[in-house]
Amino acid sequence: MPVPAEPLRRLPVPVRLIARETTGSFLTRLAFANSLRVPHLLALASITTDQRSFTPATDDTRGWTGSTPGRIAALAGRPLPELAAAIPLLATMTPADTAPLRACWHCIAAKNVTGMVILRARDYLCARHQQWLRGIHRPSLTALPEITGSQRRHDRRNANVPDQDIARAHRQAQDITRQWLEAGWHPALTERWHDRHRRLAATVPGPEAVLADVITHPEMLAVARLLILRRRAPGIQPREIAARLGIPNPSIPHPLDPLQNHLSQLPAPREAS
Ligand SMILES: [Zn+2]
Repeated sequence: MPVPAEPLRRLPVPVRLIARETTGSFLTRLAFANSLRVPHLLALASITTDQRSFTPATDDTRGWTGSTPGRIAALAGRPLPELAAAIPLLATMTPADTAPLRACWHCIAAKNVTGMVILRARDYLCARHQQWLRGIHRPSLTALPEITGSQRRHDRRNANVPDQDIARAHRQAQDITRQWLEAGWHPALTERWHDRHRRLAATVPGPEAVLADVITHPEMLAVARLLILRRRAPGIQPREIAARLGIPNPSIPHPLDPLQNHLSQLPAPREAS
């Protein structure tokens, strides 16, 4: 692959860094700020790619050479570690295992950033603007204030939990709450979720799958919190599960309940010393 003939230099107009941005979004902004066509910038960065397949959502290393990260840093006029702190792909150099999601438009407008910015990681919504950020349909959450409230509490309580632990707990919790929803395990939850579905559908009709993640979100976060605590402390009592979910306390949990099933498969947590 030919190295670009043009000498590598810092581009005249720097762009500000936005936390957890995709490389595609960052490179597009860098090109536009300097009145360069995107293919030109990609060539300067030593990236060979089909122009049509490159978009602001692009966040993988296809077409990169070993020198690409250093070249991006040189073009941006910033040290690579500083860029990597904002752009996850540069830090990991591996494709993300999470689906990209777009940042809240209201927040982008407030920062006076033009164009599309893609975020990812443990964000589901913008609490400030009550906006769901995942999927094709991104409903306003103004009809469901408990969703943003639960996210705020969850973020506060888990501020010190590493990202990968949060992500794992969320994946497991989503699996559990989806099974609860589909099979109607807990009548109190089923009733609550149907109520949320009615309130949400009144404002934004959308596919069930998208709405399912929205309407079960507070309970997903509650289960995730239980799973995070379970890794650090001895077994969870059924009454604590019921209390956190706001459901009647079952005297004997069903062993096949997806959450019970999951907890029974976990190794015993380490005792605090
Ligand atoms: Zn916002």
